Amino acid sequence: MKKLALHWKIIIGMGLGLIFGLMLSYTENAGFSTDWIKPFGTIFIRLLKLIAVPLVLISLVNGVSSMTDLSKLSKMGSRAVGIYLMTTVVAVTIGLILVNIAEPGAGFSTELRETFMTKFADTANSKTQLAQEVQGRSPLQPLLDMVPGNIFGAMSSNKNMLQVIFFAILFGTALVAIPQEQSKAVKELFASLDKVILKIVDLIMKFAPYGVFALIASLITDFAGNDPSKATQLLAALGKYSFVVLIGLFTMILLVYPTLLKVFAKVNYKEFFQGIFPAQMMAFSTSSSAAALPVTMKQVEEELGVSEETTSFVLPLGATVNMDGTCLYQGVAAVFIAQVFGYDLSLSEQLSIVVTATLASIGSAAVPGAGIIMLIIVLEQLGLPSAGIALILAPDRILDMFRTVVNVTGDASVAILVDKTMNNKTPIESDNA
Ligand code: ASP
Repeated sequence: MKKLALHWKIIIGMGLGLIFGLMLSYTENAGFSTDWIKPFGTIFIRLLKLIAVPLVLISLVNGVSSMTDLSKLSKMGSRAVGIYLMTTVVAVTIGLILVNIAEPGAGFSTELRETFMTKFADTANSKTQLAQEVQGRSPLQPLLDMVPGNIFGAMSSNKNMLQVIFFAILFGTALVAIPQEQSKAVKELFASLDKVILKIVDLIMKFAPYGVFALIASLITDFAGNDPSKATQLLAALGKYSFVVLIGLFTMILLVYPTLLKVFAKVNYKEFFQGIFPAQMMAFSTSSSAAALPVTMKQVEEELGVSEETTSFVLPLGATVNMDGTCLYQGVAAVFIAQVFGYDLSLSEQLSIVVTATLASIGSAAVPGAGIIMLIIVLEQLGLPSAGIALILAPDRILDMFRTVVNVTGDASVAILVDKTMNNKTPIESDNA
């Protein structure tokens, strides 16, 4: 077991968690999982969250202050944001094309619709309330939200990552702007703190296979309870919709990113997948881009050869704003709900989904289930009933795992592309790719 690579241990943890969860559920022992297994999953997630804010702050200050030239920073920032936006628009477009071709909502009986609407009414309501808190503010609100009034306030929650990024860039920039003899000690301090944080990440990852086991086992028992057949029936009714989302997500992972990497960065995508795999597994089992961030940063830098300068800036930003998987899913889900309710969306309405879903995905926090809350904003914009999310809640937890994998893979791909355009040659570049 000792010699196995970490990602294999994580996969084994996942597989055993799945089997164990199903066993508990079939033997009507779901309660055992809640009491004795789930807490270990929660501890693992907490450890990852614990490290997220210090990691982003320290690595960004370190990255920015190591740049001798500040114009390089703005160049890198604008390229990252530009490519992030492009991949997100591609993602939602793919989602919209697929859902229009497959029409998963056509032929969904009114009776089935009512079953879902009644069963999930409470959850749908509470999500709608959360979405309302986000809505109804100034159009400049996203800009306002980026600027913290108090840095400790910003650091007190993982949901304010953009504010932490803002402060870190400001701090790093000021560090570059003051004379070398005054900044030297602080720069050395941050360089050394960076090493400490990475060591903590290493230590936490030793616990990963067990944490992942607990997360998957409790996910199964939470959903299926002591009656797995009922849960399976609900999921089966949404099979076609889930299938369309998954086809879209796999298109991004297996076609869009590899093509982009091959064409624009001449990257050998077999090595890309080998390098990024542990981060994908982390995204899959935690459903949180923020929780996966430490692993994504480590893999992209150490295995994919992207410079520290790029990873420490582009990846924390991407984990927060770039959510290709979430955006694709929001497009599919919105049209699916429209189809079930018998709304005929015009071409211009569908095009407006591209814009709102892109903005909604940028606004989604990098935590489990954030995408479905922001979906409500997309639905309301289209004049669709927001309670319609009751229709898609059942498979959402599972789809969240897959879309988070896409989000993280997208961040890593863009980091490689940005690094390439900044003229850094990455070691995994293949001459014959
Ligand atoms: N869980 C996703 C992420 O962290 C966001 C979402 O789509 O819910 O990337």
